[in-house]
Amino acid sequence: MAKGNIGVTSNNIFPVIKKFLYSDHEIFLRELISNAVDATQKLKTLSSVGEAKGDLGDLRVRVVIDKAKKTLTVQDHGIGMTAEEVDKYINQIAFSGAEEFVNKYKDKAEAIIGHFGLGFYSAFMVSDKVEIFSLSYQDDAKAVHWSCAGDPEYTMEDTIKADRGTDIVLHINSEFEQYLEDATIEGLLKKYCKFLPVEIAFGKKKEWKDGKEVELDEENIINNINPAWTRKPADLKDEDYTNFYHELYPMQMDEPLFHIHLNVDYPFHLTGILYFPRIKNNLDIHRNKIQLYCNQVFVTDEVENIVPEYLTLLHGVIDSPDIPLNVSRSYLQSDNNVKKISSHITKKVADKLAEMYKTDKADFEKKWDDIKLFIQFGMLSDEKFYERAIGFALFKSLTPVPSPEGEGRLYHTLEEYKEVIKDKQTDKDGNLIVLYTQDADANYTYIERAKAKGYDVLLMDGELDVHAISQLEQKNEKMRFVRVDSDIIENIIKKDDNHNDNHNYSEEQKEGVRKAFEALIPTEKKMSYYINFEPATADALPIFLTQNEFMRRMKEMSAHQQGMSFYGQMPDQYNLVINTNHPRIQELFDAMTSEEVEEVVEKKGDEAKGEEAKETVKKTVYTLSGKDERLHQLMDIALLASGQLKGEALAKFVNRSVELLG
Ligand code: ADP
Repeated sequence: MAKGNIGVTSNNIFPVIKKFLYSDHEIFLRELISNAVDATQKLKTLSSVGEAKGDLGDLRVRVVIDKAKKTLTVQDHGIGMTAEEVDKYINQIAFSGAEEFVNKYKDKAEAIIGHFGLGFYSAFMVSDKVEIFSLSYQDDAKAVHWSCAGDPEYTMEDTIKADRGTDIVLHINSEFEQYLEDATIEGLLKKYCKFLPVEIAFGKKKEWKDGKEVELDEENIINNINPAWTRKPADLKDEDYTNFYHELYPMQMDEPLFHIHLNVDYPFHLTGILYFPRIKNNLDIHRNKIQLYCNQVFVTDEVENIVPEYLTLLHGVIDSPDIPLNVSRSYLQSDNNVKKISSHITKKVADKLAEMYKTDKADFEKKWDDIKLFIQFGMLSDEKFYERAIGFALFKSLTPVPSPEGEGRLYHTLEEYKEVIKDKQTDKDGNLIVLYTQDADANYTYIERAKAKGYDVLLMDGELDVHAISQLEQKNEKMRFVRVDSDIIENIIKKDDNHNDNHNYSEEQKEGVRKAFEALIPTEKKMSYYINFEPATADALPIFLTQNEFMRRMKEMSAHQQGMSFYGQMPDQYNLVINTNHPRIQELFDAMTSEEVEEVVEKKGDEAKGEEAKETVKKTVYTLSGKDERLHQLMDIALLASGQLKGEALAKFVNRSVELLG
């Protein structure tokens, strides 16, 4: 028997391994199985070049739990190790046999995993003792038994082993007995080994029979050894991609919209399939679905430092041996390969979208609503992506815009849209005004007014639209987005300076009318209203509400952005626009004879805010006009038209309306 000390400079590396090496203890299983798969792949390579003779036989890797002995064993039928090799590869911790092997068989080597660092030794994180039983594939090899109880001392001796390959036996520490549970191990195998290229068997297949679970003779194979991303795109149908999607995400019911198959050999290796899910809202629930693999071994599903943030909304698999896995996450971003991989993926995604748009616009338009959020997120967070995407990012009109081809068009690229609205929606200062709504029902009356003028209105009801709008304004000089209800339409798109108010009402008259309505303003806490006089057209409502574009937008943006809570706390501000061109309002002005108005003005002295003073003015004006009910009605109609008349106020309005009919 040979005895010796594990060859590391530090006196005892085991406490380090146990405590600090991996915070995730469970990865020991991934490491051992990776080694077993490596050993199997190496054997296949040697056989293909004639260095390993004869039939390779059963190559399955098996994971076996022995509860009585408290052991977990990983068995392979790969190349095995001679005593010299155990000495070289296991006793000298820092040495990585995988690297040497790859260098030697560069061209032929099947994918070799390795590169995970201290792979084998991670077994000591959960074991009191680890044993290796190994028989090399080499002619006349003697089997070797190595044993180490978690200190620098090991023993090594000849042993008897019937079949080629390696058994790694872990004597599980009492703190980690969960690793002797079938369910735990099966869970881990499913997580890390689902797509390994060599079959992994764990126990027997089970089946439900007569209400009971029974074991079959057949072994329970954990993995699919030919996952779609490792196959050639030419060999795959759409259906194969969809099936693979469901294999990756068994709990996901929705079908993906489309996919991108990645395959790069130079200057780095990368394969994978990315899927576009439907993303209507709630960016967060879609995050962290991309799974990162290294030669088919699952590494992580947290890819945020490896791909740009907006790409974390995609689903699928990325497999690359060129992503350094043993460095800290924060270091990843600055790694050159990672940078290249990230920009490659960005480019592929943009190219795919551009190609889809070019080849089938109608189909792309159908998908647009479901991918819009993703594309906007990309455009907002990545300048390069913006430049690529602006050619296929679409804007959706509320109703089809007549086009020369006959069929009306709902969707337009930015450049197309500029053409659509250029003639009618350029104001007197040469600004191109884009009208939009976030809620076509709520803004109905405003939209109708805009349409009556021959203007087009865009639907911008997405979660990121408010940010997208700011970005577009920054990038396109002389283009402004204005929500249809932010002012009277004549003011939103100003055509000439003498937008005329042809009624020369006196200040006193205006004051009277203002007071009349002020008394009726709802006293909601989170709202504030300012009264304006505007000569809108006679067929517009007598009174209506508008909301300043800038303030509203700042508030909306503050909901997503830190440091803007100042805007978030401000009340919602509305302008109560009194349409001086409306006959009902004109009647009201006319009712303010000068004598009566003076009376009102006198009362202005009482204006001192108190409820009583207000009541007096209100009563005065009501009596003046003899139309108090109707005033109330006008005010409520304005609130109703912008969706703000609710609850008791709405009920009162309904009752009043019925009474007025009588
Ligand atoms: P790495 O896998 O990163 O090289 P490990 O510590 O996991 O590091 O393994 C060291 C070496 O031991 C491997 O490169 C390989 O040569 C050898 N080895 C480990 N496990 C096996 C096995 N099951 N069969 C054959 N060789 C093995």
